[in-house]
Amino acid sequence: MISARTQKILDGLDELFPDAHCELVNHNHFELAVAVVLSAQTTDVSVNRVTPALFETYPTAADLAAADVREIEPFISSLGLYHNKAKSIHDLAVGIHERFHDQVPDNMDDLVSLAGVGRKCANVILSECYGIPSLAVDTHVYRISKRLRLANPDDTVYQVELKLRRKIPEERWIRTHHQMIFFGRYLCYAKKPECARCPFVPLCREKNKNL
Ligand code: SF4
Repeated sequence: MISARTQKILDGLDELFPDAHCELVNHNHFELAVAVVLSAQTTDVSVNRVTPALFETYPTAADLAAADVREIEPFISSLGLYHNKAKSIHDLAVGIHERFHDQVPDNMDDLVSLAGVGRKCANVILSECYGIPSLAVDTHVYRISKRLRLANPDDTVYQVELKLRRKIPEERWIRTHHQMIFFGRYLCYAKKPECARCPFVPLCREKNKNL
């Protein structure tokens, strides 16, 4: 059963970000999978700048799999770690093309067997591509879960995910994931959170940290 405290947080997030959604621009499962892998340690805005030309040149997993990694690099050179990312999305495309017949897998085990796809990326793909209830713990969800005492300060990413799954009703996982990301992106920043306009001050472990 959901606690009154968690319910307050979910209600507050509903009020703040009723329309929270995935901000990675994509038109199909393949594009989403590539965009998610590219988004590691960079912003969705940066990824959205490079993907239109990338997908125009390599519209399918087969096309990207057939490319040389060095041909892919210029398309994503504005992103950090672009050498590694070019190899990751190339190998991801090879896996999707050769092992999964050009279909992005719809289960965790197969997804994490693909290059560049960890548990976080897999959770995003499961929820965005297939509507499967999932809770991806990215840097925002990780930080906010701890600040709002949904997790302990020393919890690992996986422990945070398990706690969120236990505390939040399954039908809310996808929505809450997006709302926590919006909250982290647009209000509860890592360095200078805007506590003055936050409804969760009484619930927060790090409230008014800038005052
Ligand atoms: S009170 Fe400040 S640190 Fe705490 S959740 Fe709100 S914005 Fe974030």
